[in-house]
Amino acid sequence: MAQEWFSRTRRRVVQGTALGWAALATGCAAVGGTAKPRVVVVGGGWGGLGAVRSLVEGGKVDVTLIEPNDAFMSCPMSALYVAGFQPASYVQRSYQGVDALGIRRVRERVLEVDRAKSQVVTATQRIGYDFLVLSLGVEYMEEGIQGYAQARAQLPVGFRAFEQQAVRQQVDEFLVKGGTFVISAPKPPYRCPPAPYERAFLLAEQMKRKGTKGKIILLDANSQPTPPPIAKPILNAMSSVYKGQIEYLTSVDIRAVDMGQRSLHTSEGEVPFQHANLVLPMRAPALIRQAGLGERWAAIKLPSFQAQADAQVYVIGDAQGSPLPKSGHVAFNAGKQVAEDILERVAGKAPAVATGTVDLPTGICWAKVTEKEAININVTASMEPGQAPKLKFTVDEVHNARSGAGASSWANGMWKAMLG
Ligand SMILES: Cc1cc2nc3c(=O)[nH]c(=O)nc-3n(C[C@H](O)[C@H](O)[C@H](O)COP(=O)(O)OP(=O)(O)OC[C@H]3O[C@@H](n4cnc5c(N)ncnc54)[C@H](O)[C@@H]3O)c2cc1C
Repeated sequence: MAQEWFSRTRRRVVQGTALGWAALATGCAAVGGTAKPRVVVVGGGWGGLGAVRSLVEGGKVDVTLIEPNDAFMSCPMSALYVAGFQPASYVQRSYQGVDALGIRRVRERVLEVDRAKSQVVTATQRIGYDFLVLSLGVEYMEEGIQGYAQARAQLPVGFRAFEQQAVRQQVDEFLVKGGTFVISAPKPPYRCPPAPYERAFLLAEQMKRKGTKGKIILLDANSQPTPPPIAKPILNAMSSVYKGQIEYLTSVDIRAVDMGQRSLHTSEGEVPFQHANLVLPMRAPALIRQAGLGERWAAIKLPSFQAQADAQVYVIGDAQGSPLPKSGHVAFNAGKQVAEDILERVAGKAPAVATGTVDLPTGICWAKVTEKEAININVTASMEPGQAPKLKFTVDEVHNARSGAGASSWANGMWKAMLG
């Protein structure tokens, strides 16, 4: 099954290398010399690992992966951990299988991209590249909520690897003590739009099982669950399964947090809480701006994912600013695609000319509604040369056990594909 998901994207690659990479094969230091071209991948998450996996095939390039964490933690399926249905180990994996590929893994954070010198800079070294792949994920826009930065430790977002533990602590406390647990959903674009609803659902299921006294208030900055194709099944789950646990308030802007009073100042008035998981608006990490690659999100060209500012640099995953969904599945497939693109450039292949519709990386998302049931969200995307991408959503009408099982097998397949 997983094989089928990957091959759909591979089909695109053949056509998608078409646009705009002719110039570079002549411009990179190592191409044509004796040393192998150096490809540096920054970010050992969904996009970066997709790139690494395909780059090593054939042994044509030297691959360096730079990632500060010494292990991988998945955001997909992490709601099962956050809500207490699974231990942390369920969503954590070591990088052993990646190391076995024979790449160089640097456990550091990139502090600067020096594009003029084609180097990335960490606290201890400068690492040169012929091609750079950035898959950095997201950063939270804390400044949007007054007082949030001071309250960060008590109000963790938990939408990045290893931050979920702090949310789990809030959940464990709430399930024992009860009270009001606020979860918020920001305006898009943000990482995995169904995720705030999914968290609310699984927390509500635990409330039912444990008899927790209290409620979840879901504050949505949007007028309905977003993107619109998921609204119906999400609203249906809310009213049919969790009427007694979840109060859903729409078009609410959170403006400030007062931790002394444990209250949120919102566009619709004060919302008191005992626990909260505020999912903040998001943007690309600051490194993208520092490197002159974009503002809120990296400016890229589709279908190649090359930075508009620099043909040597690719930006994939959630940090890139195309209309493609901010999903791990898309990130992974984009990683595979840019790797194949780089290998073709290294081989000196002339760029094909795109004449018709080009398929873009596909997305698969799952919104768990109960421990065993989920809503499946499939997104395909395509574009005509020079036009904006068109997205097509196929979404379950109602949550169901088939999609619940599908979510687990999809996650296992993806973790294996990424980490071996
Ligand atoms: C709760 C939740 C549920 C989700 N469910 C799904 C789902 O069902 N299906 C799906 O497809 N997607 C899902 N997603 C979305 C998915 O997690 C993201 O789209 C995916 O992680 C994006 O991949 P990425 O490579 O851009 O970022 P990440 O996977 O976050 O990887 C970024 C990596 O870059 C590293 N990094 C950052 N800055 C630097 C730096 N300066 N130097 C070196 N390394 C750096 C980070 O440490 C991190 O490891 C979900 C997300 C959440 C939060």
